[in-house]
Amino acid sequence: MSNLDLKPQESVCGAQADDGPATEVHDAVKVWLGKTTQVRRLLPHKRRRMVGAWCFVDHYGPDDLRLQQGMRVPPHPHTSLQTVSWLLEGTVLHRDSLGTEALIRPGELNLMTSGTGIAHSEESVGGGQLLHGVQLWVALPQPVRDIISPSFEQYSRLPRVEGEGYDATVIIGSLGDVSSAATGQTPLVGADVALSAAAVARLPLRPNFEYAAVALAGAVEVEEHEITVGQMIYLGTDRREIAIRTSVDARVLLLGGEPFSEEIVMWWNFIGRSHEEIVQARADWESESDRFGEVTGFDGPRLPAPPMPNTRLKSRGRTA
Ligand code: MN
Repeated sequence: MSNLDLKPQESVCGAQADDGPATEVHDAVKVWLGKTTQVRRLLPHKRRRMVGAWCFVDHYGPDDLRLQQGMRVPPHPHTSLQTVSWLLEGTVLHRDSLGTEALIRPGELNLMTSGTGIAHSEESVGGGQLLHGVQLWVALPQPVRDIISPSFEQYSRLPRVEGEGYDATVIIGSLGDVSSAATGQTPLVGADVALSAAAVARLPLRPNFEYAAVALAGAVEVEEHEITVGQMIYLGTDRREIAIRTSVDARVLLLGGEPFSEEIVMWWNFIGRSHEEIVQARADWESESDRFGEVTGFDGPRLPAPPMPNTRLKSRGRTA
């Protein structure tokens, strides 16, 4: 997934001493992804830019592909992040500049690590009638971001945590004492939690993590605040569990991690630490430098970078 916005707003993130439990409900911003797909963007949010190392959350669908064209994101670059592709329904074809060509299917983690540069394309394919999923980015910390090799990994078998009223798939990181084989480069968790109607689910949390929950399907009550599709609740730190109630079968994406201590700059599809670094990444993409390599097989041109804003990009806190 790409940020296709032609005038991307600068997003800067970094640590702030606002720890403790919280219950902030945020509404998604609707963003067009190209001409065909509208997504609900939950991070970065103007008041809350990161949750742990999670810095980008787009929720899309379910879209009926008999009525809509579906996803079609031309080759575009990334730096200093990992993309976590997670589908609830449908199939997406991923191609990247490492030569990977992979089908992304529901229930399987697809994890792409950019290192200092990678490029990929994504398009929905196949006979599936619905497309429903999330595209997530995880910021890479120093010094890992400069030394880790670009890679693409697929995990088709993921561990589950089951409890009264819930069945959680641990996509990446750890929930309770259960860990995904995909561990991430900072302590974190991403889990897809299926909830049964009329039950109270109590999910185990870590006090040193901050957390947020995104409604993927149905409406749920998290710590006595109702959220529905298109909303996220930020829960803060210092919690050992959260209670989630629902009167219908529902799905929630639980995201968490140690608060990210570095200040970062996010612009378009790049993460950096300074204005100059983003300018260089943009120039390298526009000049078709070897830094990002080439995506082969996509039927169409690569995505051009939008112009840089007139102001300098600055790093600020991870909240607004
Ligand atoms: Mn992307």
